[in-house]
Amino acid sequence: MYRDRGGGGGSAKSELDRKRITDALDKHLEKASASSSKALAAMAGGGKDKERLVVPLTSTGKPQFDHPRGGGSLPEKNKLSDEESETDSDEESDVSGSDVDDTSWISWFCNLRGNEFFCEVDDEYIQDDFNLCGLSSQVPYYDYALDLILDVESSHSDMFTEEQNELVESAAEMLYGLIHVRYILTSKGMTAMLEKYKNYDFGRCPRGYCCGQPCLPVGQSDIPRSSTVKIYCPKCEDIYYPRSKYQDIDGAYFGTTFPHMFLMTYGHLKPPKPTQSYVPRVFGFKLHKP
Ligand SMILES: [Zn+2]
Repeated sequence: MYRDRGGGGGSAKSELDRKRITDALDKHLEKASASSSKALAAMAGGGKDKERLVVPLTSTGKPQFDHPRGGGSLPEKNKLSDEESETDSDEESDVSGSDVDDTSWISWFCNLRGNEFFCEVDDEYIQDDFNLCGLSSQVPYYDYALDLILDVESSHSDMFTEEQNELVESAAEMLYGLIHVRYILTSKGMTAMLEKYKNYDFGRCPRGYCCGQPCLPVGQSDIPRSSTVKIYCPKCEDIYYPRSKYQDIDGAYFGTTFPHMFLMTYGHLKPPKPTQSYVPRVFGFKLHKP
């Protein structure tokens, strides 16, 4: 499953390392098969804080790990499931099937349907340990997840079962999200998000008097698994549910700070407050408040 991009990382992990890791994974998976989320929570953080640390097997509910580069991809139809009743003509995310072997994991991930809110984090940023401080204790299978994100060839993947690979992939998604929330507060990250904002990638405010104001993604909490991503309208300064395909994304991958920091950085993008507000009328008469 892990791609070989030549370069660096492939230098074989020691036999001992491999054995230790496989043993550890096996132990987790024994538990996981008994009760997957409980075991995972326990594995990730001693089970103290389930909300924060669970990486469910199905992750965010999206089948985003049908890795197109790994050969055994799931049928694309699974992605275009029932809830896609919204008309939606973006096809750029349909990357399955074809030879996309030059795609990095990061661009593959960001181009998946439903992941359009994410910008691509620079490899350089991820390679700097300083930027990842504290994440290894939050994300299970941390080292494997990181290798996967950075396309570092790992020999262990052949030894993993499909289920183990799924766990690693699910962990990689979480790790990427937690790196992403930090990255978008840096100047490079903000520039990347600016491009997306200009492109209306985050959608527009549904409020009538906001006249299609483009929105920014925001989390209601910085703790993973507490709430899904919302969109913030800079005009009416309120938050809304994004379109349904984005409603499984964890809000903590965008965080509570981002849109406000963004508008402080790009002050000229902050729209004036709306001057009109809606007034309910019956036959043209305003209603009396009881
Ligand atoms: Zn608005």
